[in-house]
Amino acid sequence: MGISHYFRCCLNCGSLFPLKNRFLCRLCWAQALTDQAKKRVRRQINRKNYEAVVLWDWVPDKNNALSSYLSALKGWGGPEEWEALARLLIQQRFKLSLEWTQQSIIVPAPSVRKPKEDHAFQLALAIGKILDIQVLPALEKCSFSLRKEHQRGRSKSQRELLQVKKRENFSQLYLQDYKVIFVDDVLTTGGTAAASLGALSPMKSHEIWCLAQRALL
Ligand SMILES: [Zn+2]
Repeated sequence: MGISHYFRCCLNCGSLFPLKNRFLCRLCWAQALTDQAKKRVRRQINRKNYEAVVLWDWVPDKNNALSSYLSALKGWGGPEEWEALARLLIQQRFKLSLEWTQQSIIVPAPSVRKPKEDHAFQLALAIGKILDIQVLPALEKCSFSLRKEHQRGRSKSQRELLQVKKRENFSQLYLQDYKVIFVDDVLTTGGTAAASLGALSPMKSHEIWCLAQRALL
């Protein structure tokens, strides 16, 4: 076994560190975590309020440690990595005095790729495993084949609302009796989350969980 089995090179500062399941050394990881300022964020999309549980506030040009960490996840986040993040997110959620019900279902953010290759799905799976809740990759993103007249004169968030639908094998899915936990890695405008909840409606209630909230500059 080579040295890479025991040590990793920190993506932010380059120092070697003896951990298998982190992309950042202890110091840089702590630095990333200090930006864990908000527990809940509120976003308004088309005059509707959406709240989300988030781990990090992410300002791409300011927080370099977090930026390299999040881009590393896109390429090669392994199961241990997703599990560690799932635990952090669950901790964050249960700090809130929000009602919890085991009658919940986790739905990862829609992707254009196969669900198994997608990082929102990997994160959702890890959360589902820890909480013993079913994970349904029920949504997909329609490609930009929407007809031009549907796009014209609409804002970006309005267009996003048109771009999420249930996968064919989930078209009969009814969630009236369930709380839906929508899981994504990065929340930007919130348009995808809003569109996804729209596509899953009606449901009993919902929560949005994500790793980072990207600042809108
Ligand atoms: Zn480092």
